[in-house]
Amino acid sequence: MIEKIAEKIRIKQEKKLGDFLNKNMNLNFVNFLLNRRRKIKGELIPFDIEGYCTPLTEKTCHKIYENTYTFMKALGFNKDEILFYISDEFEINAKSFLGDTEANIPHIIILNSGLLERGSLKEVLWVIAHELSHIYYGHGYISNAFNFVYPPNSKKKCIPPILFYYYSCWKKLNEISSDRLSLCLTKDFESAIKMLFKGPSTKKYVDVSTEEILNITKSIFEKLKDREKNNFFNYPAKPIRITMLDKFYNSDAWELVKKDREDPQSLKYIEKSVEKIDEEIVKILGSFKEPVNEKELVKMLFISSAASLIMKADKHIEKDGFNYIINILSEFYFDPTILLNEMLENPDKAKKYLKESSRKIKEKYPDLKTDVITILTNLMVRDKKISDEEVNILFDIASKFLEADFYTIIETILGSIQKLYKPLY
Ligand SMILES: [Zn+2]
Repeated sequence: MIEKIAEKIRIKQEKKLGDFLNKNMNLNFVNFLLNRRRKIKGELIPFDIEGYCTPLTEKTCHKIYENTYTFMKALGFNKDEILFYISDEFEINAKSFLGDTEANIPHIIILNSGLLERGSLKEVLWVIAHELSHIYYGHGYISNAFNFVYPPNSKKKCIPPILFYYYSCWKKLNEISSDRLSLCLTKDFESAIKMLFKGPSTKKYVDVSTEEILNITKSIFEKLKDREKNNFFNYPAKPIRITMLDKFYNSDAWELVKKDREDPQSLKYIEKSVEKIDEEIVKILGSFKEPVNEKELVKMLFISSAASLIMKADKHIEKDGFNYIINILSEFYFDPTILLNEMLENPDKAKKYLKESSRKIKEKYPDLKTDVITILTNLMVRDKKISDEEVNILFDIASKFLEADFYTIIETILGSIQKLYKPLY
């Protein structure tokens, strides 16, 4: 059993983001309903899987199953908890579907025939261990419910930027956590790196040593690491994954992990060593987003301080307005809720930031003026009533602090009223 190690090597920020999504989207409830529906309809295994995929069992695929069962046992799974299938797809890939052991719904792992045809046994086992790691960490719990609430490619509903951003970061971090746990199960670094590097390229033509792969990816990693923040593919770029696994493999933690050391002292040591690598990965994947330049910083401080003063004008803070502002701030900052609350709790601090940021906007970034005034007027009309107090503060901020002309302010307010104002709605 390597359950204790599995928790220690998991990226803490991944767990935190998952908890945030779970709490704010009531994913527990969504999952409960989805699983209940499956049980009532008797769809414990989806029709397209049971009807069109080849079962991978002890009897049909002994070689693979034998090793896979060793991994399952290490993670504390029973044989009947996870079912395996092979689908007729060319791409070197696999996917997992989280079930619910308590409700007797099995977890499912599907391997593409392309993976079995073009990967070596060891490489295939690494992929299986990776999918088992997703199941072990329960990643599907969040993605199932999230994709139900916001179906991919559906244009009907817009994902609020903050949820989109958090989900994307979480997805990427969960790949890195699973890569690590997969390595703990297989202890086969070489096959992991080869599999991650080769991806959909064919085995026949790509023949390269692990050392060479690491050399190639190191230089690409340096070029990509600053751009990864804006990668919204839900998977980290491959050189990032390879380099991060290499760092884990070369860390002090690995020396203990490879021996499956689960005594308290070793676990503490593993945790500490992994924390150091995690700091870097969290930064690269943008899970701690911060303004990238002065202009973004000025915009973020102006919006948060000015919005807090306008919101304070009402007797109680409207949730709608609050959410509107944190979604806007999430473009620049990882945890906008903390930032906005800080401004709301410290009006003197908010005034100080307002003064400094508006001076910078006037002097260096006048092109931001209309944009930020529009955000404030949108905020003002959002709560379905417009109070004199709010209007006074807004005019004060726009005319005195930003020195915007009267006509621009009026035009912007009228624009927001026509677009968003819903009195008595
Ligand atoms: Zn994965």
